[in-house]
Amino acid sequence: MKIFKLLFVFLFISLTFLSCSSSGKILNLSDPDIKILPRKSWKADDPKPFATHLPERITIHHEGEYLDPKENAADKIKRTQVWCMGPDRNWSDIPYHFLIDLEGNIYEGRNVFTAGETNTTYDPSGHLLLTCMGNFEEQELPEVQLNALIKLAAYCCKKYQIEPETIKGHKDYAETLCPGKNLYPFIQDGYIINKVKELIKK
Ligand SMILES: [Zn+2]
Repeated sequence: MKIFKLLFVFLFISLTFLSCSSSGKILNLSDPDIKILPRKSWKADDPKPFATHLPERITIHHEGEYLDPKENAADKIKRTQVWCMGPDRNWSDIPYHFLIDLEGNIYEGRNVFTAGETNTTYDPSGHLLLTCMGNFEEQELPEVQLNALIKLAAYCCKKYQIEPETIKGHKDYAETLCPGKNLYPFIQDGYIINKVKELIKK
């Protein structure tokens, strides 16, 4: 009998701990403060001359490359910038305005008033491009990364007077799998838009 009692106590403690940690994530989502790591955190090079625009809508991407959780995200962003500005693409900067790593850290990308750049056929001018690092056709989307995306989208809607209804995914505009089957459903079923609206109201 003693072992059953012990098992019960163990289960009770585990469940209490689990419910605390999940409500912690919800609290984290409702906390209006977000921290955006500046370009110098990933040792950005200065951009080349660029086309300006006004952000009017939010478009969500994944980076499309599998990201190992052990990999240093800042180093990865820097490598992406070097490749994008190099002979392969010759873009003016990293193509995205903000990037979010698997731990929910948010990084400043290109100037918000610069039109993004793309390999696909849509015109990104007027789109504010938020990117979750990783490939969400292949890997699961961590909850902490999704929550950071929602908070960042709410922050951008407020700051740049963008309507939450404009939040869409890259594949809504172009022939692409981006932002991946493990992220796109949160856009498609309105979950992200509804959470952003809740955050903006607070
Ligand atoms: Zn994309």
